[in-house]
Formats: sequence, structure tokens, C-alpha cells
Amino acid sequence: MIKLSVHKIIDLLHNSGDIDNRVNDSSAMYLGAAAHREIQKNSGKEYKKEVSLKFETEIAGIPILIQGRADGISYEADGGIIIDEIKTTGLPISHLYTQQEKHLAQAKCYACLFLKSSDEPVSHIAVQLTYFQLESRELKRHKWEYSADELEIFFANLLEEYSKWLLLEIEFKKIRDISANKLEFPFKTYRKGQRELAVAVYKTIMAEKKLYSCAPTGIGKTLSALFPAIKAMGKGRGEKIFYLTAKTVTRVVAEDAIRLMSAQGLRFKSVTLRAKEKICINNDFICNPDHCSYAKGHFNRVNDALYNLIDNNDLITPPLIEKYANKYHVCPHELVLDASLWCDLVIGDYNHVFHPDAFLRRFFYDDSGDYVFLIDEAHNLADRVRDMYTAEISKQSLSRIRRHLRGKDAPTKALRKALKQTDTYFADIRKEMVGHKTESEEDVAFAELIMAVSRAAEEWMQFNKNTAHELFDDILDLYFKTIKFLMVSELYDSHYITITEAEAANVSITLFCLDPSQIIAKGLAKARASILFSATLSPLAYYKETLGGGDEDGALYLNSPFDPNRLATISHCGISTKYIDREASYAPIAEALHVAVSRMKGNYLAFFPSYDYMRRVHELFCDMEPQIETMLQQSQMSEAEREGFLARFDADNPETLLGFTVLGGIFSEGIDLKGNRLIGSLIISVGIPMISLRRDLIRDYFNERNGRGYDYAYVYPGMNKVLQAAGRVIRTEDDFGIVLLIDSRYGTPKYKELFPAHWLNMKYIRKSGEIGDWW
Ligand code: SF4
Repeated sequence: MIKLSVHKIIDLLHNSGDIDNRVNDSSAMYLGAAAHREIQKNSGKEYKKEVSLKFETEIAGIPILIQGRADGISYEADGGIIIDEIKTTGLPISHLYTQQEKHLAQAKCYACLFLKSSDEPVSHIAVQLTYFQLESRELKRHKWEYSADELEIFFANLLEEYSKWLLLEIEFKKIRDISANKLEFPFKTYRKGQRELAVAVYKTIMAEKKLYSCAPTGIGKTLSALFPAIKAMGKGRGEKIFYLTAKTVTRVVAEDAIRLMSAQGLRFKSVTLRAKEKICINNDFICNPDHCSYAKGHFNRVNDALYNLIDNNDLITPPLIEKYANKYHVCPHELVLDASLWCDLVIGDYNHVFHPDAFLRRFFYDDSGDYVFLIDEAHNLADRVRDMYTAEISKQSLSRIRRHLRGKDAPTKALRKALKQTDTYFADIRKEMVGHKTESEEDVAFAELIMAVSRAAEEWMQFNKNTAHELFDDILDLYFKTIKFLMVSELYDSHYITITEAEAANVSITLFCLDPSQIIAKGLAKARASILFSATLSPLAYYKETLGGGDEDGALYLNSPFDPNRLATISHCGISTKYIDREASYAPIAEALHVAVSRMKGNYLAFFPSYDYMRRVHELFCDMEPQIETMLQQSQMSEAEREGFLARFDADNPETLLGFTVLGGIFSEGIDLKGNRLIGSLIISVGIPMISLRRDLIRDYFNERNGRGYDYAYVYPGMNKVLQAAGRVIRTEDDFGIVLLIDSRYGTPKYKELFPAHWLNMKYIRKSGEIGDWW
């Protein structure tokens, strides 16, 4: 049975005209949702809100289930039924009338679903569109009455029109499932651990559970996750797979895995998403018909582009999207999102599921689905989600606007007033305190002020929308901050803490997400099954807890498939890198690096806990050994500079090259220097994040929960950076090299416990001279 949403049908068949972000931007959506709820609440007791409707039927002999959710159904005293569809706008209400035909079609669809699922015979239904303007609060209602026959005819015609698309999908799914069932693992043999992971992924999907797996480099984790997920899809489990990553480069690895299986006969449609600003082909990046010719009339052309794109291609990559966007002159961002509806695999970012604004509404707005999430590099997920759900407003962000905002019109006066009240609130805080304070309660009075600023900023922007006002960008920026603040404020609970900070002229209030595990769990609940994996998802119990796992979910730790004897692992415990000992550590570290790289010519990377530390040791190292070529990571490196840095790591380098880099930075994760391109990772410190108020708050929170706050806030995140940096050395079974850990703490049981199983030959030394004995 194919499941179809009313939205999917209507968006495809009844969209026309332009893309116009002035109508559908996220601000209007946020305020619109609140207005929506208010209208529903005030619509009387006969009014049932958010009514789910569904109906089973056939299109061209194919069984389908059509689902939708009416905003409201009013059961009138005289027995009449009114299906209500609410639309809100921040623009003049007349903008809604340009889309009235689409709104009406949507409401008529719900009326049909109601009709078809009703136990009682219904001869007539009224369909109502409720239009609401967010600033003026102007509300207009329009009502049409239809007989059951009229609605039947409308619905039958709609499904007839849709059948072309459905047949395309169905025919392809048949081909896909046959090919998926026939698909053999694309290599003759599995690598060590690979089969175990693939089997666990398959079982997890079939059992509709979650799996957390530490799958070291070399196992082929991308293929081990995708292959069983596709096999499960062939057996009817999972209508769509989402492969989510933290970095663009990992998305290419997923595309390669699909290419590999396609070469074995798999027919499977995949699409790779990119951030809007990266895929936009209009220089201005302003999404309305006045600024972007791709936006103008986009909906009139997009169906042809989409049909041809999905009919002619299986692997839909960003360059292909750009080609089609140019050919049909449509927006590539909207085109790729539409294509995702028709693909079996969506390769994207964590944002596409977890971000409060950027999540894919077309899949995750209403409900969960028969989805499978494959979440790669999952060790990054908690911090990413914490950032997404932490919100801050500072005095600085509104001071400049307040100082320069002039005008006698009502919106400007209203905004000035709201800003003044908030500024005064900040000023009172500054009079009272310097430094910081934390509270486990939300500051409700402040949230109300921010609500007022948000509303006033929106009103001001509507009033000034066609002017090139010098403060427009600042106000827009502030506005988005207020929107995020209010969104987080709604979620505020015991996983949050309020931080008030007053430093010099600035004051800020932050709603800090201490523990995003609940938010992650809620995101994962949108899928039937989720696999979270990473080469460094260790300790597994810690990641399972912090990434929304429960007792019922699986955990799988796999050993490295590589010969441990090809990696020399040495802990130099004779040097302390603790903050108080740093000054004294520079020279011994320079010497240790010198010994390590002098033994064998080749390319090495040294990782330091900070730029300052790196530069100090680099200086001494260059004095000590001017013949050895070195490179230094810079704090701001462009994509080209980064590429240039890595290009120097040549497999045929006959000399020695030592790159000085920062632990946890751009060179310690996600780079793949195979073979002789890198033969050593020399890691200074245990990677502990810099002590900070926020880390301390996380520590205190987990101390209260499980007594392991320091480990959760500092030790495990630090060790993850170490494991990532160490993992740069052995990328294939032919690689060899050294991991040198420099810090006295590596000799303690706490850290030994965190070493991966394949570091079984770890040598512990106290003098730099001993490095050579083992390497
Ligand atoms: S092409 Fe760019 S500016 Fe134009 S609508 Fe698309 S994303 Fe917006």
C-alpha cells in the first residue's frame, strides 16, 4: 500500500506562480503557528481541531492510503459540517488570495476524505478558508458549499491527474525492490567487523529499534549501513532512508557507496541535499520574484523539471540539480527538496531532521514515517543539537539599532519602545551584577520583553520592506534571534539552565541546553529505526545515553579490522601538559616530536590543544631542527588554503614534513590521507575542552544525574578528539605508522580504559629518547 499525503498531491498539482520568501519566511511561519492555535481555540466548542483523516482507494489498480489533517472541523447544530483551513500571513491579506485556488483544493481534499471515511451518509459539506493577517489581526472567512457528488468528481479528477506521477513512482519501486532483493554485497568478502555491523543494522531495522555502534575506520561503515538498509527496504521495511552526516565530505562517501551498488545492478533513487546558500545559483540570494528570476514563475515550470529529473536519473547530485535548474530556469533549492519526495535515499545534514527551522517539513512536520535514519559521525550529534537549541540575546545585539533608529511612524515608535524596555532590563541587570549568574528557572519577564521586540521588529520590517533602510539587516538579524529565543523558551525544562552574564558594556541572557538527549530522542522518534555510528563512538554507554538511547536499544562495539602491529602506539607519560605545567613543557615536547619524526622520513601531523601552544612549540622545534620542513595551521583558513595544506602531504615525499595543527580543528577529523600521505599522529594533551562556564554547567548537571559530570563534560569529549586525530594514520590495510600520545595522564587507569581495543601494543615511556626504541 502506498501512503500519500494531501500536501504531496496538492503541492504538486496546485502550485503555481512565484517563490516569495516574503510570504513564507520562517518568521511568518513561527508567528503563524501561534495565530493558528489561537484561531482554533476561539472557534467554539463544536470545533474539533487538527482532525486526522484517511482513506484507502486505488489509482490505476494500485492500493493507496491518502492521509491528511484538517485544521478544524465544525459540527454545526443543524447537522452541517464545515471543514476549516487556516492560512496566516505577515504580508497584506491580499497575498493569500493569490494562492486561494490551492488552499481551496486542499480543503476540498479534506472534505473528500471526511466524506469517504464517515459512517453516516453526508449529502453536503461546507469548506471554509480562514485568512488571518498577523499584524493587523484582520480575519476573513470564506465559505463554499459542495454536494457529495461534486466532491467525488473533484477527487476523482485529482487522482486521475496524479496517476502519472504515481505510476512513475510505483513502476520504479517495483524495479527497485527486485534489484534490492537480488543485490549481493558488492565485494567478494566482508572486511573484519563489516558483516557483523551489516547484520546488526538489518536486524535493528527489521525490529524497528535504535542501534549505537562504534565502527572503527576500515570497516567500511557507510556500506555496512546502506547495504542492509536497502536490503530491508526490498523486504518492505522503510519507505525512505535518510543518511545524515555532520560534514559535506561524508555525503560524497555515501554517494560512492550507492554508485558501487548501482554498478552491481541496484536501481535506487538517491538525492544529496545541500544548504540553500550553497546550492543557490542567484548571486543575490534573495528569494522573491523581484530579486531572483529563478523564483519568478518557478511553480509554473518546476513540475516539468522534476518529472524529467526523476524519470531520467537515479543518483541526483548537486551538480545534476544545478544542470536541471538552469535548463528549466527553476530554483535549485526548491527542486532538490521536491526531488527528495521521490527518492529512496536522502543524503543530508543533521539539520534536516533536528534543526528547529531547517528540518525537512515535508517529511517531519506532522508525524513520523516509515523512515530509517543512518546517522554517521554520530559523536558530533549532541554538540550540534545543543547549539541548535541554545538561544542567546545580548544587549549589544539591540544597542546599535536602538541608537540609530529614527522615525515618527507607528512601527518605528513601537520598535523603539520595545527595544528601550529590553535595554532598560539589561541596564538594571548590569547595575546589580558583574560576572555571571545561573538559574534553573526561565526568566519569564525577559521572554515577554523579547516577544514584544519580536512582534515590533516584524511589524517594522513589513512597513520598511521595500526600502533599503540601513538598519534592515540588523533588525532582521535581531528578529531571527528573538524567534529562536522564543522557540527555545517554549521547550525550556529541567534540561535547560538560564545564564545571565554581565561583562563590561554587554549583558546577555542565554537559555542553555545542558542535555539535548531528549530533543535527539524526539527527533529519532520520527523514524521507525535509527542507526547511529562513528569510528569513535566510545565509550558507547556514554554516547547511548547522551544521544537519546534507552535500555531497549542496541549497542555494538567493533574492533579495528587492521593489523594492530602496523600501528606503533606510544604513550609518553613523562610530560605534563596541564595548564600550570605548560611553560615547562614546550621544550620537552619539541624534543619528543623531533625524536618521533627523525626515525623515519615521511609526513606527520602534530595536534595541540591550542594555537598558542602550537606556535610556542613550533618556534622551538624550528630552532632545534631547521632542516625539517614544517607547516602551521592558521586560525582562519579558506577552503583553498585548507586544500593547499593537505596537498603538501604527498605520498612520494622523500623527506620529512611535520604539520602543526590544532586538536579538534579542521585537520583532526574528516581528512583521509591514505598510504604514505600520513605516517604519524603526534598528539599533545588529552584534548580536554577549555574550562568554561558552559562546560562546568554540563559537568554539574551530569554530576547530579549520575555522578560522572567531569567525564561527561570534559574527559570523554576530549578523548574523542584524541581518537579522531589518531584515526588519521591507518586508513587502509596497507598503511602503517605511529600514534604518539604526549601527556602524563595517559599513564593513568582512567585514560587506559578509554583506549580502543586495537591499541593493544601500547608502550608507555617517560623519556623522549625511548620513542625510537619502539618506532
Ligand atoms: S535561486 Fe537562490 S535566490 Fe532564487 S529562489 Fe532559489 S535559493 Fe532563492
